Amino acid sequence: MNSPVSVAEEVVVNGRKFVPLFSSEEIKHAVEQVALLISTDYAGRDPLCIAILNGAFIFAADLVRLLKFDPEIAFIKIASYQQMQSTGKINEVIGLDTDLTNRDVIVIEDIVDTGHTIAYLHQLLQERGAASIAYAALLLKSDAYQYTIPIDYVGYKIPNRFVIGYGLDYDGHGRALRGVYVLKDEE
Ligand code: IMP
Repeated sequence: MNSPVSVAEEVVVNGRKFVPLFSSEEIKHAVEQVALLISTDYAGRDPLCIAILNGAFIFAADLVRLLKFDPEIAFIKIASYQQMQSTGKINEVIGLDTDLTNRDVIVIEDIVDTGHTIAYLHQLLQERGAASIAYAALLLKSDAYQYTIPIDYVGYKIPNRFVIGYGLDYDGHGRALRGVYVLKDEE
């Protein structure tokens, strides 16, 4: 007997409904593409990958294992986002203790929204003497992005909607979802 046609599944996280935006296969494909580009661009170099916690932990884990070189990896934490709205206020950058002088840096971010986070970080990395700084983001909300700093490696551009899954959370939940889900319009 044929299995029933699979209906895209809705998930409920913290009482809100989310519907699928990208399947785990689509995400895998995007991560592979990004890894290929970075591997080509950084062949023969020794870049430092800096993953931004918490959201980028899954993207970073998948991405670095697909690179064709053995990257040095650091993790930092930045607080700027609460619930569903970007506050624009960066509280602090925690954990940036590697010497960046003359280093090629690749920042790994789950999603770029307004860009406040990377704009703040960009200045800090420059001040710390990085030779070059590139950004890899799984998702980019291009209509919400307010800066001119190039996002060099983008998995998918998405509309200005709230998403969860693959590391992204809604108030602490939803990170473990294998796909990316978008907040459903209220009925
Ligand atoms: P930005 O500073 O406005 O670019 O926001 C970047 C950070 O906000 C990301 O690292 C995420 O942690 C968080 N963020 C932005 N958009 C979303 C979303 O749609 N869902 C969950 N977190 C988000």
